[in-house]
Amino acid sequence: MSLPTVVIVGRPNVGKSTLFNRIIGEQAAIVENHPGVTRDRKELEADWLGNHFLLVDTGGWLPGGSDLDEKVSRQVEAAVEQADVVLFVVDASVGLTDDDHQVAHWLRRIKSPVLIVANKADNDRRENDRWEFMALGLGEPVPVSALHGRRAGDLLDEVVALLPDQGGADAEPDIPVDEAGAGLWNVGDTPPPRVAIVGRPNVGKSTLFNRLVGEDRSVVHDMAGTTRDAIDTLVETPDGPIVYVDTAGMRRRSRIDDSAEYYSMVRALRAIDDADIALLVIDATEGVTSQDQRLAERVDASGCPIVVMLNKWELVEDPEQRAEIEIEVRRKLYFVGDAPVLKISALTGKGVHKLRPVLQEAIEQYHRRVPTRDVNRVIADAQQKQPAGHGLKVLYALQGATDPPTFTLFVNRELPQTYMRYLERMIREAFNFGSTPIKLRVRKRSE
Ligand code: GDP
Ligand code: GDP
Repeated sequence: MSLPTVVIVGRPNVGKSTLFNRIIGEQAAIVENHPGVTRDRKELEADWLGNHFLLVDTGGWLPGGSDLDEKVSRQVEAAVEQADVVLFVVDASVGLTDDDHQVAHWLRRIKSPVLIVANKADNDRRENDRWEFMALGLGEPVPVSALHGRRAGDLLDEVVALLPDQGGADAEPDIPVDEAGAGLWNVGDTPPPRVAIVGRPNVGKSTLFNRLVGEDRSVVHDMAGTTRDAIDTLVETPDGPIVYVDTAGMRRRSRIDDSAEYYSMVRALRAIDDADIALLVIDATEGVTSQDQRLAERVDASGCPIVVMLNKWELVEDPEQRAEIEIEVRRKLYFVGDAPVLKISALTGKGVHKLRPVLQEAIEQYHRRVPTRDVNRVIADAQQKQPAGHGLKVLYALQGATDPPTFTLFVNRELPQTYMRYLERMIREAFNFGSTPIKLRVRKRSE
């Protein structure tokens, strides 16, 4: 079966070869180097979300100059005409040029779908400069910074949406996993962070779980027959090992079908007590229901940081409706504060890549260790600003553990809960712990 092809065209210096390398770099693996091609034809098999395609850079084929039409070789013409998607790269930092107009003139005559890629959109302002390219009559330009990788995942989402269907949605895991089964993590290492996928039934938890760990994985690590409540799957990711906890799988295994909703909730609650991060999956087509709210409140109360996954986003097409849902999430889930909200389609994989940097940050915070003198400085400042009163004092403090960050406070007498929360907030803000849970332990000096 021949692979669909994605061909990159554009005048010289717009960043075609940088984009080529970026796409190859963003995807999981370079699958194969296709031999037998001419030297100036750069092509590699790429893979995004299980959608394979041949990426072709026409870099050397399109010289600049006035009589561009004549210079377009048959080869490039054939490649572009047979392409499943053409990426027409323009330079957002330079703006529209005559050469761009000429390339567009030629591309408007071909049948393949064309995406205008407004490259060098390195920041928000440059991103807005892309609208100028609407004048090319080839649709809405997609901004990207090939050099820095900004929005590269979004561009790839757009590209695969235009590819002929390969049934790719279920074909490959989003995050590469190792072959060995147990992962590169060894017993005795620091336990990897646990990510629990929670939500009401049918919001798409298991679809998301499978996308994150790959179909086979959820079976290999099935702990069936044990008394364990959670089905844990260890996944080796580029950012280190992660344990995904599938609460949907637990529900499927229960025999109590009529009260499935209730039991899935109970089990989800147990899973989050153990988790370091909870992915709260919400069905965007239904909005935030009262059960979503209750679950979120409970997750929040457990001290677990939350990432809201607004799933089935591809079914919400109306921009007004989209805006409404986003507002609703912020309003009805106000207590989760600044929790990241990701709009995804677990079914197609679109947007799921955004989870990676979010998890990465949460994991980094989870492992962070603060030097003892800094902890004491912050505690001293906090006590000076607002003393506990009644002669109560923290004498000395240190971070005794990471994963999650745990601080030990040596006090002369027991501190009131409200004051503990105040100190926790001060530590959180001073060291930028974001939504990571932190624990405070108290030791009395006499101990
Ligand atoms: P090509 O001739 O179209 O293949 O262009 P290249 O990929 O060789 O890039 C031309 C120049 O633009 C190089 O100096 C790149 O480093 C630079 N470039 C490519 N992409 C970006 C980008 O996203 N932002 C910025 N600022 N520069 C870029
Ligand atoms: P769970 O009960 O929360 O584990 O939900 P499932 O993963 O079993 O999904 C419930 C239904 O929603 C299934 O029919 C899925 O195919 C469907 N589904 C899941 N994610 C998406 C999505 O992103 N878009 C669409 N359209 N359907 C989805």
